[in-house]
Amino acid sequence: EEEAIRRRSKALENDGLDTLREASRQEYLKKREQKKLDELKDDIEDEQYLFQGEKLTETEYREQKYKKEIYELVKKRTEESDYTNDEYRMPDAYDDVEGGVNQEKRFDVALQPYRDPVGTNEKMNPFAEQEAWEEHQIGKATLKFGSKDIKKQQKYDDYEFVFGDFIKAAVMDGVNVDQAELLSSVQSPAVKTTFEKIQCDRRTLPIYPYREELLRAINDHQILVIVGETGSGKTTQIPQYLHEAGYTSQGKIACTQPRRVAAMSVAARVSQEMGVKLGHEVGYSIRFEDCTSEKTILKYMTDGMLLREFLGEPDLASYSVVMVDEAHERTLSTDILFGLVKDIARFRPDLKLLISSATLDAEKFSDYFDSAPIFKIPGRRFPVEIHYTKAPEADYLDAAIVTALRIHATQPPGDGDILIFLTGQEEIETADEILKHRTRGLGTNIAELIICPIYANLPTELQSKIFEPTPQGARKVVLATNIAETSLTIDGIKYVIDPGFVKMKSYNPRTGMESLLVTPISKASANQRAGRSGRTGPGKCFRLYTAYNYYNDLDDNTVPEIQRTNLANVVLSLKSLGINDLLNFDFMDPPPSEALLKALELLYALSALNKHGELTKLGRRMAEFPLDPMLSKMIVASDKYQCSNEAISIAAMLSIGNSIFYRPKDKQVHADNARVNFHMGNVGDHIALLKVYNSWKDTNFSTQWCYENYIQVRSMKRARDIRDQLEGLLERVEIEITTNPNDLDAIKKAITSGFFPHSAKLQMNGSYRSLKHPQTVHIHPSSGLAQVLPRWVVYHELVQTTKEYMRQVTQLKPEWLVEIAPHYYHLKD
Ligand code: ADP
Ligand code: MG
Repeated sequence: EEEAIRRRSKALENDGLDTLREASRQEYLKKREQKKLDELKDDIEDEQYLFQGEKLTETEYREQKYKKEIYELVKKRTEESDYTNDEYRMPDAYDDVEGGVNQEKRFDVALQPYRDPVGTNEKMNPFAEQEAWEEHQIGKATLKFGSKDIKKQQKYDDYEFVFGDFIKAAVMDGVNVDQAELLSSVQSPAVKTTFEKIQCDRRTLPIYPYREELLRAINDHQILVIVGETGSGKTTQIPQYLHEAGYTSQGKIACTQPRRVAAMSVAARVSQEMGVKLGHEVGYSIRFEDCTSEKTILKYMTDGMLLREFLGEPDLASYSVVMVDEAHERTLSTDILFGLVKDIARFRPDLKLLISSATLDAEKFSDYFDSAPIFKIPGRRFPVEIHYTKAPEADYLDAAIVTALRIHATQPPGDGDILIFLTGQEEIETADEILKHRTRGLGTNIAELIICPIYANLPTELQSKIFEPTPQGARKVVLATNIAETSLTIDGIKYVIDPGFVKMKSYNPRTGMESLLVTPISKASANQRAGRSGRTGPGKCFRLYTAYNYYNDLDDNTVPEIQRTNLANVVLSLKSLGINDLLNFDFMDPPPSEALLKALELLYALSALNKHGELTKLGRRMAEFPLDPMLSKMIVASDKYQCSNEAISIAAMLSIGNSIFYRPKDKQVHADNARVNFHMGNVGDHIALLKVYNSWKDTNFSTQWCYENYIQVRSMKRARDIRDQLEGLLERVEIEITTNPNDLDAIKKAITSGFFPHSAKLQMNGSYRSLKHPQTVHIHPSSGLAQVLPRWVVYHELVQTTKEYMRQVTQLKPEWLVEIAPHYYHLKD
C-alpha cells in the first residue's frame, strides 16, 4: 500500500494525469495478479491444480494460464487508446548476422501493439473486461461487448507489430508486383455468377498472359520444362489450356502430383472451373481411390499411380500428354517416372511431355531430358519480412501456437490469415485441440479463429474448407503439412509460421533400416514456405529458429527421396515392368548402390526374386498389390495359413496409419479403457487391429459403436474401402478367401512371413535389438505390448522420435523364423 501511494504521488509530480492513470492501473492489476498468485500458490502446494475454485488437471491449468496471456494481449490492445506507454516503443538496435550480409533489427520488448490513432478511442472502464473474464471463468457470466465492435474495426488500422521473441531479418523482395494493377484485375466489376467469377479469376493468374506462347512452345517441342512460382496456375491451368487447344481429342492428359490431397483438391478445383462433375471429364486417381470414368480426359493422379499404370499399359497409349508436375519435389515415384517417360517419349513422338517445377532447378531437368527447352512463367510475389527467434525453441509446437495466438490477438482480423507448417497428422490434431482450447471463452474480445487442418489422411469433405474465403471479422489459421509448401496454394495468407521441421523418411542402406523422422528442412524449403505469405499482399514469415541456424545448420536443398529411402517397392515394380538391369537405369540422381543391393536382397529374402535377380511367380503376385512388399508378402503368404481374410483386414488397417484410435483430452481414461479391450490376452497390435475391424463389422459398421469405443469412424470407413480393393486383388492373383479367425498363431505366422526382416529380441535392459542388425529399438508406448515386453517380436515400422520406436508390434516364436525364413535366419541367430 505504502509503495503504491509513494509511486502514485511521484507520478503525479513528474508526469501528470496520464501517468497517474497508468500507474494506478498497473497497481490495480498488480494487486489482482498477486491475489491470484497467492491463490494459485496455495493450490499448487496442495498439488492440485485449482484455478479459481475449480479443480483442474495440470494440462487444463496450463491452458488457463495461456488463455490468460492471450486475454491480456487483447486487453492491452483494446485499452491502448486510454493508456499509452512509451516504454513499449521498439528500440532500434542493430545486430550483425554472421558473415555480415544482413543487418538485423533487434526488438527487445515484449509483444505490444502500437497506440491507436487519435480520436477513435472510446472511454470505458479499464477493468471491466478483466472482471468479466474472471466472472466467465467461474461460470457466472459470459462476455458481452457487442457495442464496441464497430469502433474496434477502425482502431486496428494503424497497427504495427513487434515481437519480443523475434528478430527481423532482411526482407525477401517481391517480384513483378504492380499492386494497383493486381488489385484492379482481381476486383473485376459486375461479375454475376460463381462460374463467371471463376472464369474471371482464371484470367488474373500469372500464367494467363502466356497462354498462347506456352501452347506454341508445347506444339513446337515434344518435351518442355515449365518453371513458375507456386500459385501461378501451372497445375490448374495448363491441362485446361491443352484441352481447349484440342489435345484431348487424341488421348487423355495426365497430370501427376506427389501428394494425394493435392491430386484430389486440384481435380476438384478444375472440375469446378470447367463446370463439370468431378469424376466425369475431370477426375483423379490415387491409391485405393479411383474417381475417374470413361469420360475422363483430364486425369490428376499421384505419381505413384501413374507408375502403376505402366504395369498395365507400358507405352501409356491412352495418353496424349503427360505432365509430371511438382517435379522439384523429387519424390521416389517422380524420379522413376522421369526414367520411364523419357524412354517412351523416344518411341512415341506424338506424346507430349511436360515437366513442371516451382523452383529454379530447371537446368537440371532440361539437361536430363536431352536439353529440353525451359519455359519460364514470370511469377508475382509481394515482399515478405522474415523474422527469426532470438534463441532456438525447445518446443516448436507450443511456440507455433503461441505465435499464432499472438498474431491473432494483436492484429486486426481481415488483414490476413495464418499458415503454420507442422510435420504430420498427430501434430496437427494436437495443435488444433490446443488452439480451440485456448481461444474458448474469450468471447467477443477476440475475433473468431477458424482452424483449418490439412494433411494427407484428412477426409475429402473437410479438405475444401481451407479454400473457403474467410468470413469478415474472422481469421483463418491453416495447420498444414509440407503439402502447403508448393502443392496447394491457399489465397489470403499473410503470416507464415515455420518451425523448420518436416517428417521425412530416412534410410540406412547399411542396415536396411528405414524410419520416419522429424528433421530440419532445407533452405530451399524455408524460402518456399516464407513465399507463401506474399501471394496476395506483403507478408511476414516467423521462423521458429535462429538466423544462425538458417545460415549454418540447414542444407541448401532437400536430398531427393531416391537417395534416402528403401527401394524394395520400386525395384519390385521395375522388375515387373521387365527392367532388369537396375544399375544402368537412367536415374537423374542414382540411388546409393548399397540401397539398390539391399532392396534386391530383401526381395530375394521375401522370395520375390530368385537368385539370378529375376521375378518369381510369388514376386509377380506381390507386385499386383499397391503395398509395401512386406505387406504384399504377408497377404500372399496368408494363403498357406488359410487366413487371407484376416490378412487383408490387417493390411487395410495398417495402411490407414495411426488415425484409428483417438483420445480426447477430457476422456483419456475412457478411451484407454476402450482400447484395452482389443488388446485382451496380449494378442499384439496386429491382432488388436483385426479385432477392431471385426468388431466393427459385427455391429454392421455402426458409427455409434465407433463413438463408444473412441475409434475414428472415418478411418474405419477408409480401411473398409481399402479392404474391399485388396479383396478384389486377391481374386486377381487367384488366392481364395479363407478365414481362420481363432487360430491366432496361423495369423501371426502369415504376418511373420512378410515381416520377418523386422524382428527383434528383448535385451536385459528392456530395450530390443533387431535381429539382423546391431540396432537398439524400443516398443512404442502406444503399443498394447509396451508393458508386456515379450522376448521376441516382429514389428510393422520404425519411427524415430525421442528414441527409435517399433510401431505395431506382435509377439513371435523364434522357431517360426527358422520355419518361415530358413535362408535368412539360421539357428545361431
Ligand atoms: P501452381 O500449380 O502454379 O502452383 P495452381 O494451379 O495450383 O498453381 O493454383 C492457381 C490458383 O488456383 C491459386 O490461386 C489457387 O488459390 C487456386 N486454387 C487451386 N486449387 C484450388 C481449390 N481447390 N479451391 C480454390 N482455389 C484453388
Ligand atoms: Mg501446382
